Amino acid sequence: MSSTWHILGAGSLGTLWACRLARAGKAVRLILRDAARLADYQAAGGLTLVEQDLRSHYAIPAETCAAAGPIHRLLVACKAYDAALAVARLAPRLGAGAELVLLQNGLGSQDEVAEQVPHARCVFASSTEGAFREADWQVRFAGHGFNWLGDPANPSVPTWFDDLQQAGIPAQWSLDILGRLWRKLALNCAINPLTVLHDCPNGGLLGHLAEVNALCDELAELLRRCGQPDAASGLHEDVQRVILATAANYSSMYQDVRHARRTEIHYLLGHACRAGRRHGLALPKLERLHQHLVDSLTARGLPSA
Ligand code: NAP
Repeated sequence: MSSTWHILGAGSLGTLWACRLARAGKAVRLILRDAARLADYQAAGGLTLVEQDLRSHYAIPAETCAAAGPIHRLLVACKAYDAALAVARLAPRLGAGAELVLLQNGLGSQDEVAEQVPHARCVFASSTEGAFREADWQVRFAGHGFNWLGDPANPSVPTWFDDLQQAGIPAQWSLDILGRLWRKLALNCAINPLTVLHDCPNGGLLGHLAEVNALCDELAELLRRCGQPDAASGLHEDVQRVILATAANYSSMYQDVRHARRTEIHYLLGHACRAGRRHGLALPKLERLHQHLVDSLTARGLPSA
């Protein structure tokens, strides 16, 4: 079985992972959207990773999803709303024993991907690393963080896990990856939409703490109802800690809206509201927040799902 890391999507996180794996001598291949993007990439001659003032160039081979040949190990680095469709196009190349690592934020896209490739193993990841695209094929590593990986269906550590440590990618195998993803989703729901609606950095929410706490009440109830009591415990305090620790930062959703980019609302606040409805749980504050956010995105001409 080939040990090549195929990387689907050479955006911010895809580039960050691809460059570190390539630097450690691992075999890496990028899978790009189409022939036009591949030609553009080939003209650039590779990926550039910028770390502080250091700029490194990696001439990583690339192909489109129309290429042939089996894929055994796939890092899915698209946005949540693109992941399932992108993986579906690769499904004929992903045979039995293939393993996917899903970097998507929020919840819902992981199941959508898994449905496309029922014979493959899907490892879920939750990342607190930060990277952004300065230009096409050039990414700045902006925030050191950590990665938790886990597979709700299979606790065994994948054979490739040591590759991450060898590549300097900080990571730990988690036996409770769903709890981690739910907790991160709840933090996101309590902070990010309000920063868009109040047009403020995270610290601006210190002036709206009653609203934040009321959302945390409903989120904690939802987490417990979804069988995630550990993710519910201490949520209010954690949200306030994050607001204080990141007071000067603008949330990812705020930045997406400011740059007129599609948000991942469907897999964050949208997922929370859908889960509440499925459990017959009334979540009036979260539902109202969701409606306000949808209205705000629609008014800006952005997709609301
Ligand atoms: P991004 O910079 O927008 O990159 C996404 C990449 O996916 C783009 O390069 C895009 O290609 C590519 N793509 C989309 N559809 C494709 C297809 N069918 N075939 C091939 N490539 C395709 O997004 P990101 O910031 O890396 O985020 C990826 C995920 O990680 C998100 O769920 C995000 O929430 C999560 N995350 C990101 C960060 C971060 O700091 N960036 C941190 C934690 C979690 P084009 O270049 O052609 O558009």
